[in-house]
Amino acid sequence: MVESIKLTKRQEEIIQIVKMNGPIPGKDIAEMLSLTRATLRPDLSILTKVGNLEARPRVGYYYNTDGETKEYIDWFANHLVNEYKAHPIVIKKSTSVYDAIVQIFLKDVGTLYAVNQKGYLAGVISRKDLLRASIGNRNLHDLPVSVIMTRMPNVMTIKPEVSLLDAATMMIDYHIDSLPVVQEVEQKPNTYTVIGRITKTTISRAFLEMANQ
Ligand code: ADP
Repeated sequence: MVESIKLTKRQEEIIQIVKMNGPIPGKDIAEMLSLTRATLRPDLSILTKVGNLEARPRVGYYYNTDGETKEYIDWFANHLVNEYKAHPIVIKKSTSVYDAIVQIFLKDVGTLYAVNQKGYLAGVISRKDLLRASIGNRNLHDLPVSVIMTRMPNVMTIKPEVSLLDAATMMIDYHIDSLPVVQEVEQKPNTYTVIGRITKTTISRAFLEMANQ
């Protein structure tokens, strides 16, 4: 990193924002400074060239301390979902809410994936979905999870060849705890079989593994 360059006030502000909020997309930095992305571009380009900031596609800018941050991010960018995915707990979408709650406890997971008659992903059921369904006086034995789940095509999925960094970014961006790892069914666009799951726990475990290396 070149230390001697004299930064402008705006560039100092950008560095502060990235230090506090990174990794952060350029458009969010622009928003925080009430500037357009185009106005900000030359500053971001200078700070990246000089080495104060690092840019990563789809993730954004992060503060470059001494190369360590970059090393961590590279580690997560180079390790793939396929290697870390856990076994998914899959139920039929006709399963009752009551039985889904039992499965959550038996299998010790926070999220279940529901499939249709053909075995293709139909929806996601989280703890909160089950709690919400339970606080009414409905008969949970007669209520199928298909009524309360987040349904396709609104389910965020992830492919096995994607990086852990992208998986973590998706979970944070969409405020969800887990992502079904899927394979698209041949000749059937947007139709998936579930082959695994990635959760925030997966990311924490990977972090520990990296730290121990
Ligand atoms: P919890 O309910 O335990 O907080 P989440 O934060 O994962 O768990 O779920 C919050 C909401 O987001 C729920 O309504 C759930 O159905 C939905 N959800 C969970 N995972 C996904 C996903 N992969 N794609 C779309 N929606 C999801």
